[in-house]
Amino acid sequence: MHSTFSSVFFSGLADQIWRGFQAVNRRLPQGRVPSPAWAPGRLLKSSERSKPPLGIPRVTESLCPKCTLEKREAILAGGSDAPQLNDASETIKAYLIEEAGRILLRKMCDRHGPFEDVLSTDPDFFRRMEALCEGHDLPCWGDSEVHHHNLCSVKYGRGGFLIVDLTNRCNMMCNPCFMDANQVGHIHELELADIKAIFERAQAFKPRREFNVLFSGGEPTLSPIFLESVRHARSCGFKRLHVASNGIRFAQSEDFARAAKDAGLHGVYLQFDGVTDQANRHRGVGNLLDVKLQAIENIAKAGMKTTLQSTVINGRTSASVGSIVEFAIQNIDKISHVIFQPIMFSGRDERVEDEIRYQRRYTLSQLAADLKQQTNFGWEPMRDWVPLSAYSALARVLDLLRGPDAECGSVSPASHPDYCVTSPLVVKRDKKKAYPLFSFFNIEQFNRDLNAILDSARGATLTRAQLTLAVFRNINTRSLPPGLNLPDLIDLLRQTTARQDSRSPQWKHETYGKSPWYMTIIIGQFFQDLFMFDLHAIQMSATQVGCQDGEIPFCAYNSAGWRQIVEPQNNAVALSVWKRVHGPERIFAKGKEVPLSSPVSLPILINKTN
Ligand code: SF4
Repeated sequence: MHSTFSSVFFSGLADQIWRGFQAVNRRLPQGRVPSPAWAPGRLLKSSERSKPPLGIPRVTESLCPKCTLEKREAILAGGSDAPQLNDASETIKAYLIEEAGRILLRKMCDRHGPFEDVLSTDPDFFRRMEALCEGHDLPCWGDSEVHHHNLCSVKYGRGGFLIVDLTNRCNMMCNPCFMDANQVGHIHELELADIKAIFERAQAFKPRREFNVLFSGGEPTLSPIFLESVRHARSCGFKRLHVASNGIRFAQSEDFARAAKDAGLHGVYLQFDGVTDQANRHRGVGNLLDVKLQAIENIAKAGMKTTLQSTVINGRTSASVGSIVEFAIQNIDKISHVIFQPIMFSGRDERVEDEIRYQRRYTLSQLAADLKQQTNFGWEPMRDWVPLSAYSALARVLDLLRGPDAECGSVSPASHPDYCVTSPLVVKRDKKKAYPLFSFFNIEQFNRDLNAILDSARGATLTRAQLTLAVFRNINTRSLPPGLNLPDLIDLLRQTTARQDSRSPQWKHETYGKSPWYMTIIIGQFFQDLFMFDLHAIQMSATQVGCQDGEIPFCAYNSAGWRQIVEPQNNAVALSVWKRVHGPERIFAKGKEVPLSSPVSLPILINKTN
């Protein structure tokens, strides 16, 4: 009874027209999809797209955690017969099986014995994500300068993020830290010439892409060329510029936040472990929650948005996931999205004991279950979560709409369904109330409709018309949130396409806008460490590190040894030499407090499980 008459009428009408149109459309020969200049060939119809091996049980290719570390040590020791990292000699078969209500990955190395890890604590959830896999993106072409990392080379797609690690220095000393900041005995920083080369390479092969550039580290705001790097990325034509930060510099200086915005930065991915001092204590900064709140405030004052980025450790921070989402909803004018990243046992934790790894491992199915339990807006794991790659179905139709003359493809994060999942929430801004999008929108049928639109390839006008019909016919008007009416639905569609449409320089305004309803995206990103490594997933990575040695999947860079090889070979300076030149680093650890001018408080809802 909540839905307005116009929504009910329009949705029913859209369904009737869609059915009538498709009855004819199916009988006609399919049209030709374009071969845009940015792509290696024709766009791919649904039947032409390949998929990684899926299903349970199955066998996949993996690496031995111990052989890989030994190989890395041998390479770092040098010598003319130094082996190649991640070549065929390291691979072992891994078996994915269902056992006692879990999906396990088991593998056996002839030299180091058996390894086992847990990929999922809910086999039905795991199967649902795989069933919704949209397949590989276009294969990469002309990329030999970019992707040459043996078995860890990216083979498909345009990615969703290009991560650029400006420095391995950090003003904190956390445990965990997947890149082992401040502990590796050398300082590695990119220079502007490196940045230019990274972006030049990123635009030199096909598919040419629009992605989120994410400056990272260590703490990237410590880099002397941070602002210049942002300006350069903007001058290259990249339109989505972000930084992954612990927030200390943003908290300490509103002027710094303004300077970053003026350089072209669109938002900050803020490390955020919870809404209580207790939840943040493990990182060793005395007043870390105050730092985060002040950073969010200063970032907002500068005209940017914060995405909360939270490392989840089972039994340590897993009780905070619901309150983090509640906090985002209460502060939706300042916070755009939330990304949960279960701990990866890399960097400081790569030699973790098995018992601790079992205790702390946190899976995406567990995240969906905990969020259901710790929130109160009817979040359902089996209805409201899809693989992130589900968005690539819409990206493909946007590519079709833009035709052969487009400069680059839409943002299309076609990552492996086992490792990245998402659930959009629509939020009524004034009431600070959230509703899962898929509680009233049939995403599975919508993606089938999108594939039908792409496959029939009827030209721009009919494609646009079908897209509109597909959106409205898949809305369940009986389940609409109270007050969500037809103009609001049109606005939510505009927000969604602006996120993925590479054309729009106004994407930020169109996405965030001021409309009464906002769509926030909650993501679960399960970065792979060597215990769960799946080479098929690595080769379709949508999160790649742009470095002096090309672009390397994030998980391979940080888990399989590439960071440790690439950094010392390029611009690295011994820590002792660095300290002689620059003096000791100021590191906030062992309970030290970050000086703040005017601590703020933002609306916080403390969840009872916190
Ligand atoms: S903030 Fe913590 S986790 Fe991030 S780079 Fe610094 S030490 Fe590592």
